[in-house]
Amino acid sequence: MRQLDEITDAVLAYHPEADIDVILDAYVFSAKAHRGQSRQSGEAYLSHPVEVAYNLTRLKMDEKTVAAGLLHDTLEDTLATEDEIKQLFGDEIYHMVDGVTKISQVQFASWEEKQAENYRKMILAMAHDIRVVLIKLADRAHNLQTLESLSSQQQIRISRETLDIYAPIANRLGIGWLKAELEDGSFQYVSPDKYQSIVERMSQDEEERNALVQTVSEAVEKELAAMQIEGTVSGRSKHYYSIYKKMMLQQIDLEDVYDLIGVRVITDSVKNCYAALGLVHSLWRPIPGKFKDYIAMPKPNMYQSLHTTVNGPKGQRVEVQIRSKEMHKVAEEGLAAHWQYKDGDEKSKKQDDNLAWVRHLIEAQSEIKNPKDFLNAFKVDLFFQEVYVFTPRGAVIALPRGATPVDFAYQVHTDIGNHCLAAKVNGKIVNLKYKLKNGDRIEILTSKQKHPSRDWLSFVKTSKARSKIIHYINHREREKSLELGREILETEIRKYGFNPSDILKGKKLDEAIHAAGFNTLDNLLMGIGYGKTSVRNVVDKLLPKERLEEFAKQALTVKVSEPSAREGRGIKVKSFGDDMMLRIGKCCNPVPGDTIIGYITRGRGVSIHSVDCPSMMSLAGETERLVEVEWDTSHKTLFPARISIVTEDKPGLLAKISSTVSECGVNMTRANVQTSTLKRAYFDLSLEILDLDHLNRTLDTLRQLPGVIHVERVKEYSKKRSNKKSRDDGEESAGDFRRHRGLG
Ligand code: MN
Repeated sequence: MRQLDEITDAVLAYHPEADIDVILDAYVFSAKAHRGQSRQSGEAYLSHPVEVAYNLTRLKMDEKTVAAGLLHDTLEDTLATEDEIKQLFGDEIYHMVDGVTKISQVQFASWEEKQAENYRKMILAMAHDIRVVLIKLADRAHNLQTLESLSSQQQIRISRETLDIYAPIANRLGIGWLKAELEDGSFQYVSPDKYQSIVERMSQDEEERNALVQTVSEAVEKELAAMQIEGTVSGRSKHYYSIYKKMMLQQIDLEDVYDLIGVRVITDSVKNCYAALGLVHSLWRPIPGKFKDYIAMPKPNMYQSLHTTVNGPKGQRVEVQIRSKEMHKVAEEGLAAHWQYKDGDEKSKKQDDNLAWVRHLIEAQSEIKNPKDFLNAFKVDLFFQEVYVFTPRGAVIALPRGATPVDFAYQVHTDIGNHCLAAKVNGKIVNLKYKLKNGDRIEILTSKQKHPSRDWLSFVKTSKARSKIIHYINHREREKSLELGREILETEIRKYGFNPSDILKGKKLDEAIHAAGFNTLDNLLMGIGYGKTSVRNVVDKLLPKERLEEFAKQALTVKVSEPSAREGRGIKVKSFGDDMMLRIGKCCNPVPGDTIIGYITRGRGVSIHSVDCPSMMSLAGETERLVEVEWDTSHKTLFPARISIVTEDKPGLLAKISSTVSECGVNMTRANVQTSTLKRAYFDLSLEILDLDHLNRTLDTLRQLPGVIHVERVKEYSKKRSNKKSRDDGEESAGDFRRHRGLG
C-alpha cells in the first residue's frame, strides 16, 4: 500500500507552504473509520482513499482537497457522521466530502448522447465546487484500476459510465492524462477484443515507431541548433481509446491513422514556432490539408499550437506539434480541451464554445499563482443558470434555475403539461410552484379533467411552458366564445320564429358578416360571444324587415304602469291604528285571499307576508314582533303578483297573452321572455290584480289560449323550484346560454 509520505511529499513539492497536518489528521480519521473493511480484491479498504488522495496530488490539489480525498468514502460507507467531519475538519472539507457522496448516489439510466451531456452538466452543477468533481474523477480513476475483482456486470456498468460521463468531464477540464487513464481503463472492459487487438498491433511495430520518432526528433533538433533556435523535441504517444475512436469515426484501419507517430517541438517564442514550422516543412513534405494554425486562431479554450503532418523519412506519416513554453503550460496543466475536435461532434463543439467558465478558468489561471487561490476562485455554482432533474425513469432533464414542476411537465410532453394536476418530488407531493433542485426526481400526476390556468403564467420559467399555456388558454377562450356567440345568435333568430339553419347561409349572411367587420361566420360568432358585436345589429341585417317591425309592435303593446299597492293600502293591522306604515313583502307578494301575517321591522314599519313565506319561518324565534293582519276589502286596491307561462315558441304569442291579460282587467307591469332550443318560450310576467280570485280567473283564461302549455303563479321564494319543475323536459345544455331579454 502506498505510504502517506508519498502524498505529503508530493503536496509539499508543488506547494511548500501547505499545512499538511490536515492531511495527517484525515489519514488517521479515515484509517479508523474504515478499520476492518476490505475491498473486493481483499486489500484493506484504506488503500482506496489513499490512492485517491495520491491521484489528487497528481492534479496538484491543495491540502484540503487531498484531505477530502482521504475522507471521501467515510460518510457513505462508515459510521462516521457529518457532525464529526464538520467539527474535526471544518465546513470546507465537509462540503467536499458531502458533494462527492451526493454525486456518487446519482444513478444513470440512459446512454444516449444527449442524456450523457445532461448527466455531465448535472454532476458539475451538483458539485458547486470544481474540487468535488476532481475528487470524483480521482476516485473513478482508482476504481478502474481495481475493476478486475468485480463481476463482469459491474465492470461494464462502471466502464460505460466512465466513458460516457467522467472521461468527457476530465477532457472538458483539459486534464488530458486523466482522460486517457479513464478511457483506456474503461475501454479494456467495454470492448476487450478491440482493446487487445490495438494493443497487440501497436506493440508489434513499437520498436520501429520508436526508432522513427528518434530519427525525426534528432533531425529536427539538429536543424534547430543550426539555426540557433532554442527548442526541445520529444516523442508523443497516443492512447488506445483515442486511436480506436479515430478508426471508428473515419472508418479506417489502424495503419491509416495518420498521427500514430507524433513529435512535439517546444520553443521559446511565437516567432520561433513559425521558424520551426518552416524548418520541419523543409525537411519533409507536408501533407496538404493537415496544417492547422491554432496560434493565429486559438481554440475557444485558449489552446494554441501549430499542427502539421508530414511524410516522414521512410514515408510514414508523422504529426508534428509546435508551440511555445507558455502555450505548452496551458495545454498540459489540465486546461486544453482537446476533445472538441477529436470527438468530431459539431454539437458538443458548439456546447463547449458556450462554456464561458472554461475560458475563465484558463484566463484566471494565468493571473493566480497559488493553486489554492486558483481553485477557491471556482467555488461558485457551475452552470448556475440551470437545474438538472430526473424523470421517474431516470432520464435527466435540464431546466432553467427556478423552474417548477409545470415547466418540467411541459418539457416532458405538451399533453402532460396540459393535464398537470399535481407533482411529486422525491416521492412527496409538492406545490406546483415548487422550485426544482438539482437531482430531484419528479413525477407528474395528470388528470384528463385538469387544464392549464392563467395563474400558471405567474410562476413558470421556461418559454416553452409559457407559450403552451397561453396557446391553450387562447384556444379555449376562442372555443367558448364561439359556442356562446352561436347560441346567442341562434336564440335571437328563433325568437323571431325562424330556423337558424335557414338564416345562417347565403348572400345575406355574407353581407351581415362583412357589415359587422368580419370575414368568416366563426369570427362573427366569436365577436358576439366576446360581447364586441351587437347581436341586434346582426339580426337586423339577417331577418326580413316586416318581421322585425311586426315584433317591435308586439313589444310595444305591453302596457307598463306603476304598481299601486306599494303603501299597503287594503290591509288592516288588528289592534293598531290605521297610520301604521305597511309594506308588502317582495319575497312572497301576497294578494287578498292569501293568509297573511305582519312583522314589525326595526324602524321600517310592518312588512306583510304570506304565512307560508320562508322568510317568516326563519323569524319564528321572534314571535313578539309578529302581528295579526287582515285584508281590508272596503278599498279597491291593486296588488302585485307574478306569473310564469310556458308556451310553444310561436310568433305573436306575447301579443296574444298581453291582450288576454288586459281583457281580464289586469295591469301588466313587466314582461320577460326567454326562449330555449327546444322551441319553448318562457314568460315571466308581473301583474297587478285585485285579489286571489281575480288572479285565479286570469290564470284560467290564459290556460285556454292555443299554444300555452303551462301557467302558474310565482311566489318569489318558490320561483326556482317551479321553474325547474316546468323545465324538466331536458334542455339543460341550453341552460348556460339562455339569454334574458326584458321587453318592458
Ligand atoms: Mn471511493
